[in-house]
Amino acid sequence: AKSQGRSRLQFWEAGMQAPYSERMQIEVDLRRALARNEFVLFYQPQVDTVTGEVRGFEALLRWWHPQRGLLTPADFIPVAEECGVIVPIGDWVLRQAAEQMAEWRRAGLPPVRLSVNISARQLESADFVDSVMRAVQVYSLDGNLLELEITETLLMRDFEANAIKLGRLSVAGIRLAIDDFGTGYSSFKYLSRFPIHTLKIDQSFVQELDREENMSIVNAMIAMGRGMNLNVVAEGVETEAQRALLQQMQCHEVQGYYYSPPVSSHEATALLGRHARG
Ligand code: C2E
Ligand code: CA
Ligand code: CA
Ligand code: CA
Repeated sequence: AKSQGRSRLQFWEAGMQAPYSERMQIEVDLRRALARNEFVLFYQPQVDTVTGEVRGFEALLRWWHPQRGLLTPADFIPVAEECGVIVPIGDWVLRQAAEQMAEWRRAGLPPVRLSVNISARQLESADFVDSVMRAVQVYSLDGNLLELEITETLLMRDFEANAIKLGRLSVAGIRLAIDDFGTGYSSFKYLSRFPIHTLKIDQSFVQELDREENMSIVNAMIAMGRGMNLNVVAEGVETEAQRALLQQMQCHEVQGYYYSPPVSSHEATALLGRHARG
């Protein structure tokens, strides 16, 4: 059975279309992983560019696979999305993130924003708004501290329906971040119809900031975000040089290996604790 498992996993990694029976098996594996509590959230800090203070965390999904160890989303999210298991997984992510925020609150740590990635199938599911609201209500959270990260391409896909859903959530204070900004298709006319709070500049621009064209693009994106009164976060910041440039361009927050990779709940809590003590 073990060798079978290995050959199956090769399909996922190659990103190939697995045959129907294979996909059925993967779906079973993913559902079992959910039931056995093998998923875990890691947290990557989003830091104030000027003061270095932690303003929030992005929750990033991991799978402690019994045979393969720690798997990152690239290994399983595409399949989960394809077979629809991403919907219950996404629901778990929301509840887990909410529970984490409740834990930080109980521990008396300073309130920080927590951002959660939302997938296509999840956003399109009829239960989406209720699923987010439930997570917030079960833990009596301040909706303002929960942010949903959605790519511009996904937002535009069914923009009328999405605008209604996200409008309902924004009434409850829940925030919206445009993820991977600059890489997809979006129209400013339509973007302005969404209750956006944060713009996340994609890491591909940040990592090549030394190229003049990227410098102008990032500069323009930051200026636009600031002009629209949005919180601007640059992703994939790996060096002091990048941070300094982004500060110069008045980007509000940075996220990336320069400050910290995604860390366990335990480490994230310790990080917040150090901040609270100053
Ligand atoms: P993303 O939302 O764009 O997340 C940022 C990715 O960049 C993360 O990869 C993060 O670990 C990585 N990263 C952070 N800092 C740096 C850096 O300085 N340099 C580089 N090269 N990379 C950096 P990760 O955790 O493997 O996640 C990959 C993607 O999987 C995410 O991209 C997101 O689209 C998706 N994902 C993660 N968690 C979830 C989830 O709970 N639900 C859904 N639907 N998707 C998720
Ligand atoms: Ca994200
Ligand atoms: Ca991103
Ligand atoms: Ca991405």
